[in-house]
Amino acid sequence: SGARIRRAKNKSLPQYLERGVDVKFSDVAGLGKIRLELEEIVKFFTHGEMYRRRGVKIPGGILLCGPPGVGKTLLAKAVAGEAGVNFFSISASQFVEIYVGVGASRVRALYTEARENAPSVVFIDELDAVGRERGLIKGSGGQERDATLNQLLVCLDGFEGRGEVITIASTNRPDILDPALVRPGRFDRKIFIPKPGLIGRIEILKVHARKKPMAEDVDYFAVASMTDGMVGAELANIVEVAAINMMRDSRTEITTDDLLQAAQMEERGMLDKKERSMETWKQVAINEAAMAVVAVNFPDLKNIEFVTIAPRAGRELGYVRVKMDPIKFNEGMLTRQSALDHITVQLAPRAADEIWFGSGQLSTIWAETADNARSAARIFVLGGLSEKYHGITNFWVADRINDIDLEAMRIVNLCYERAKEILHENKVLMDAVVNELVEKKNITKQDFFHLVDLHGSIKPMPPSI
Ligand code: ADP
Repeated sequence: SGARIRRAKNKSLPQYLERGVDVKFSDVAGLGKIRLELEEIVKFFTHGEMYRRRGVKIPGGILLCGPPGVGKTLLAKAVAGEAGVNFFSISASQFVEIYVGVGASRVRALYTEARENAPSVVFIDELDAVGRERGLIKGSGGQERDATLNQLLVCLDGFEGRGEVITIASTNRPDILDPALVRPGRFDRKIFIPKPGLIGRIEILKVHARKKPMAEDVDYFAVASMTDGMVGAELANIVEVAAINMMRDSRTEITTDDLLQAAQMEERGMLDKKERSMETWKQVAINEAAMAVVAVNFPDLKNIEFVTIAPRAGRELGYVRVKMDPIKFNEGMLTRQSALDHITVQLAPRAADEIWFGSGQLSTIWAETADNARSAARIFVLGGLSEKYHGITNFWVADRINDIDLEAMRIVNLCYERAKEILHENKVLMDAVVNELVEKKNITKQDFFHLVDLHGSIKPMPPSI
């Protein structure tokens, strides 16, 4: 895309920017008239001046409403892609579920980046995670969420250059959003994206078939007929699975049969999604237990409030809620050590997978946290916190990028070893937490610390970096 990133001196790389977003409206199928509404939003960017001159108000926010997998994210990207502007995204569940106290500062950081790199689209996935009516959730979790929501309202309202940054949010529950969010000037435009009908499904299958070696006589109508109720994400998956069928049989073209078989598998998959196998429960439990068991060793991360593997509407498998000192975090008072601790915690699932299942059988459920660790390590190095580049503030000229990555890699490896060490020392505790999670799906703060008292070997380890 033609969008350019401005990087101010002494500022780290934007964290929430998605690079290389190159989605166009032609990649989103089955939209019918909705497309016209979205084309108008693109015009707010490309013809902003014209709208302003004629006194037409540009909306601050657009709400894409609809069930998961219908293409809301894809559409938001297509708006950015068509307008040629930067795309910033965050999932609202990230605002609230990871570290209590961090939400508001993330919202602020997100909008600061988007403004510095305007024109841009800010995309907030699963807005309802943070946008529920305030005051409905009791306790500190509720206060935290309210603080985050208030910050979001401030960001939606307050800036010049309206039209330079447009927020698009997705939700499946527009009905439960806080009324303040949908007031004029905020998310004042709602677009409903339903599940695709028969024709829509044919179009979506065809879009995904574009880049695949399809047999000439593929009967898309037949496939669309037997996928009633499925959304774009599932249809895209069907085409992928069909391609794998083809490869397995060493054929060169995807046939109608491949697609029908894949559709049948997808349908079965839909049924078992709610029923996890014992093995999956255990794997998810190990993933979450590892984060909690490692985090409890670290001063800034030890306030574990809740560990869960209960399946939820969103996509994540489970989560660990850690209460962090909000003041420390918001004021940027986190130490170098706690940044390393954070990286170590994010690597714990990968380390646990290796310890419990052996490197021959690694799963991929830790992919996201491992990603978090990598980007956090990079930010650590860019911030001048690593020994190697300590005090150097001006080293991000292109020819040092490689050095930065190498240094980030070194840090990730060291933190990884540290995570493994802690988990090895706490095998008994891990087994206890995993068993409890598999059995009850949730562990409260009290129960967790009870297990830590019984089985834990907790000693803050000195850094080796
Ligand atoms: P949502 O944000 O509504 O949950 P996504 O945009 O994340 O859904 O959709 C996931 C994937 O499913 C997309 O990346 C795309 O491959 C496919 N998909 C979903 N809807 C469509 C559509 N209308 N046209 C083409 N592909 C689609």
